[in-house]
Amino acid sequence: ATPTSIMVGTGRGAELGVLFRKGEALQLLRDAKVVAVDKTGTLTEGRPTLTDLEIADGFERRDVLGRIAAVEAKSEHPIARAITQAAGNEGIPIPDITNFESVTGFGVKAHVDGQPVEVGADRYMQKLGLDVGIFAATAERLGNEGKSPLYAAIGGRLAAIVAVADPIKETTPAAIAALHSLGLKVAMITGDNRRTAEAIARQLGIDEVIAEVLPEGKVEAVRRLKAEHGRLAFVGDGINDAPALAEADVGLAVGTGTDIAIEAADVVLMSGSLAGVAAAIALSRATIGNIR
Ligand code: ADP
Ligand code: MG
Repeated sequence: ATPTSIMVGTGRGAELGVLFRKGEALQLLRDAKVVAVDKTGTLTEGRPTLTDLEIADGFERRDVLGRIAAVEAKSEHPIARAITQAAGNEGIPIPDITNFESVTGFGVKAHVDGQPVEVGADRYMQKLGLDVGIFAATAERLGNEGKSPLYAAIGGRLAAIVAVADPIKETTPAAIAALHSLGLKVAMITGDNRRTAEAIARQLGIDEVIAEVLPEGKVEAVRRLKAEHGRLAFVGDGINDAPALAEADVGLAVGTGTDIAIEAADVVLMSGSLAGVAAAIALSRATIGNIR
């Protein structure tokens, strides 16, 4: 491609709300084979709400929700706001906590009234040596509904299963369809529960799902997809997407995402929507394709 065609292409991109931070990205996108996408905040709004709460025998609902909310009040994960809001809506008092700790990729913990409280994914409960079997049927149902099941332990005992649901962005289904019509495969990479991820992927017609990925596992997932399919574009919004954005042939950050993701990206989607990805690829094919 000539410098002129790249200038024309990046200028046209800017009009479409697709900001090319590197001219090279415009050329590389032309032959992309697969688009890998982060789930939370990219395919979905990233603003989950609490939908379900089931309490184990021997625990009391308001007490459990208050304790969970107290721990989550110190977390910056989108899940945290869903839980603190639910407790707030019910007017539940939030107890004081000590010893807060975030266990990346697993959940959060703290001490409330002298007792440990842990909240997180099923693998967190496994790590704590707790069996979540009593909630197996509920977890299966929640996952099939596209909701994310989480668990709470209080005083070293399993106390509740909580579910949060994060709505799919209005623009996502058409954006996936546009990528398919350009002949690309679409893959989802997420730290979320497998069943939940698969339910959402099914709704969207996503071709491949890599779920329950630990933060450092996103890069490995990107490498694997590259080896399998060829040139890869990765789309993400979060701090933990930055390494995957850098590892991809082309990294595209959602413009409404974190600064760290934007810094790591080659392309910024100013509209905050995945629709910009297909637009960028089509633009690449039109400008670069015609000239060489
Ligand atoms: P994701 O992008 O899927 O949220 P994370 O690595 O941030 O990836 O988290 C992985 C999983 O760990 C989440 O899906 C959730 O199950 C659990 N988790 C993380 N942070 C929290 C939190 N503050 N409260 C409850 N669970 C959490
Ligand atoms: Mg995200």
